[in-house]
Amino acid sequence: MLELVDVNVYYGAIHALKGINLKVNEGEIVTLIGANGAGKSTTLKTISGTLKPKSGKVLFKGNDVNKTKAHQVVGLGISHVPEGRRVFASMSIMENLEMGAYTRNDKSEIKKDYDKIFEMFPRLLERKNQMAGTLSGGEQQMLAIGRALMARPKLLLLDEPSMGLAPLIVKQIFSIIKDINESGTTVLLIEQNASMALKIAHRAYVIQNGCIEMEGNAQELLNDDSVKSAYLGA
Ligand code: ATP
Repeated sequence: MLELVDVNVYYGAIHALKGINLKVNEGEIVTLIGANGAGKSTTLKTISGTLKPKSGKVLFKGNDVNKTKAHQVVGLGISHVPEGRRVFASMSIMENLEMGAYTRNDKSEIKKDYDKIFEMFPRLLERKNQMAGTLSGGEQQMLAIGRALMARPKLLLLDEPSMGLAPLIVKQIFSIIKDINESGTTVLLIEQNASMALKIAHRAYVIQNGCIEMEGNAQELLNDDSVKSAYLGA
């Protein structure tokens, strides 16, 4: 479904991604783990078209993402939940969800999707007219995921969904990510919480200093001694 081929990204003189090769197959949860500053967010921004690589290719279902304008990438079927969630603080939950559906005009299907999202996140239904900026961190994360799903993505990109959240909420969010995947959405998940991410993922990549250092089955990486000592606090 998604393939990055020898992708190089720079911020001015900083060479942030150094020849990244990565694949996500339809139906998978793939996680990209790595330390602060390794290049995880840069990889996601490159896939969603907000950053353009200096060289290399990002291919999504046969389309060259780098030749697609950033605002049209959603139309290809890629939704990005950025780090820090970035909901529209002065809009209500309902208005945020409406914004997520901006590429669509199938009204009755949109209505069905609101219902699905409220079923997935009952907390959002209870607060649907509340301003998003007044929600807790966990509720904002739920809203950011819900808003991304309103575009009916084929591939959902999640940047650190566990960041700053209490352990119980993190557990809920991860369980919902699994459900979203089981109902047919492919997921690429970036996480500092490597242990939780590897537990729900099918495959994983380890990124270090802009390079992919390891890749494999998530269960194998979870049991790998070097991954354990570097990323799992063992
Ligand atoms: P974190 O978890 O801390 O966000 P990360 O793995 O997502 O880390 P990136 O944010 O992708 O890492 O950063 C990769 C490298 O690019 C780092 O060296 C970072 O300092 C640099 N970088 C990121 N954003 C910018 C920017 N806007 N301008 C200049 N350098 C940047």
